[in-house]
Amino acid sequence: MKNHLSKLIKPEVMEFKPYSPGLSIDEIKKKYKLDNVIKLASNENPLGTSPVVQEIIRKNAPLAFRYPAAGNPDLCRAIGQYLNIAPQGIVCGNGSDEIIDLLIRITAVPGRDNIVAFEPCFSIYKLQSRLCGIEFRQHALNSDFTFDWEGLLYLVDDNTRIVFITNPDNPSGHAVPFTELRSIAEKLPKSCLLVIDEAYIDFSSPIEKYSSQNLSLESENIVVLRTFSKMFALAGMRLGYGIMPHYLADYLKRVRLPFSVNILAEKAGMAALNDRIFKDTTLELIIDQRKFLSEELKKMDCDVYPSQANFIMFKPPSNAWDIFEQLLSKGIIIRPLKSYGLPELLRVSIGTAKENKALIKCLKTIMYEK
Ligand SMILES: *Cc1c(COP(=O)(O)O)cnc(C)c1O
Repeated sequence: MKNHLSKLIKPEVMEFKPYSPGLSIDEIKKKYKLDNVIKLASNENPLGTSPVVQEIIRKNAPLAFRYPAAGNPDLCRAIGQYLNIAPQGIVCGNGSDEIIDLLIRITAVPGRDNIVAFEPCFSIYKLQSRLCGIEFRQHALNSDFTFDWEGLLYLVDDNTRIVFITNPDNPSGHAVPFTELRSIAEKLPKSCLLVIDEAYIDFSSPIEKYSSQNLSLESENIVVLRTFSKMFALAGMRLGYGIMPHYLADYLKRVRLPFSVNILAEKAGMAALNDRIFKDTTLELIIDQRKFLSEELKKMDCDVYPSQANFIMFKPPSNAWDIFEQLLSKGIIIRPLKSYGLPELLRVSIGTAKENKALIKCLKTIMYEK
């Protein structure tokens, strides 16, 4: 390495291992010379962008030359109405990834503080902590992917600023009732936030049992993260938000870049919240097809983990990486979990009925017709 570079670039950046996204449809089409590719790798909504939202995006295209209103007051109000909570407790971001990043940056001091999560966990928590020079502590999940709270709390000390929990969890789909999270928050020091990432909460049922939405209203140290990327089918628009105590929302809004949520994302998000038919259709499809896929995988001797999300994690009876690669060559992209440190497991997003059937058919060919 050139000497001046190691001086110019921060050590945290020199060591940084970037986020590894799933493969894109275009990459696979090109590599395997395929016309049709099914992507079941990133937990996107299989129904595509809602037609109602598409219309709103088209209609608002002329506004693209304007700066959005700083702090997205209209969107915060709309989300507040949707959730039946005060808009002062809502902060919008360029994906919930931005809120994760902001929470780390406004709380943790490099060299002094630490952040705690389970192992494995959503990689952004660790990546952004490390980039900020913050110690990231992890405690292993139980072997059945349930949460070992005692072990996790053992890592927390006076310098822990955030404990990240994903509920339902990614990549397992495991979920815990909100009452369990409330009692964990009560055990944390007041100077430590419990951040509950609810990216997949809409797919849990009943949602009232699992969602911690109202905990942040009654507690000073609970933050709930939500995204428009999954059920609302707007992953490419980049829109997410946090629900948090008002004092905390106020600090986030002061330091965030003023226009990180773009004007079309704002309009699309507000339209998506009101699009009940799309939401109901999505939930019905996911719950129905989650059952179908999990039963079919079990018939093929896969170990299937119970899921409250729009994906299923499973252990195939033969080599997981081989299965992943053979599916790829046939035009079906799923997610190998090697990068999560789980080389024997695979994760598949729930697709449409047609896509799921194609997946099962392909898997049968791979496993039984060698
Ligand atoms: C998909 C996902 C998100 C959403 O991120 P966005 O930046 O809002 O797209 C957040 N957390 C977890 C655990 C996820 O899987």
